[in-house]
Amino acid sequence: MMAWADAERWARMRSGEDCPICRRGGPNDVVADLAVCWVTAGERAPMRGYCCLVVKRYAVELHDLTDEEAVAYMRDIQQLSRAVQRVTGAVKMNYEVHGNTLPHLHMHVYPRQVGDRFEGGPITAGTIEDSAYGAEQYREFVEQLQWQLAAAGAP
Ligand SMILES: [Zn+2]
Repeated sequence: MMAWADAERWARMRSGEDCPICRRGGPNDVVADLAVCWVTAGERAPMRGYCCLVVKRYAVELHDLTDEEAVAYMRDIQQLSRAVQRVTGAVKMNYEVHGNTLPHLHMHVYPRQVGDRFEGGPITAGTIEDSAYGAEQYREFVEQLQWQLAAAGAP
């Protein structure tokens, strides 16, 4: 059942009271800690190089951020996007903010490639693969991403 159909549960999730990320103290698969966001990247992913930027402070909508937070959030987005593009050689970066099942503000960041399985269109929901990475590729991606984030974060 879609979470919205249970109005009380959705209200608890939207308030942060019932947020699984906040209850755990952060998301799973954190690979980097930026100014106002965690970067997560799991081995199971829609495509190689996929990352998610999760805002550390509980917020639901982009307009819930203060001006200072919004500026810092955009800097985190740019820092991650640049790093992922450098590591993956993406032909185009894609960015998605939905929060329809988990309202804690997060952005999906996809490095698109020639011949990827969504070529010419948007990423289709529900497309997590177990095989986005080959042996050792995941660990190498995370190491390269962390190196690029550190390089891109330097003043
Ligand atoms: Zn949360």
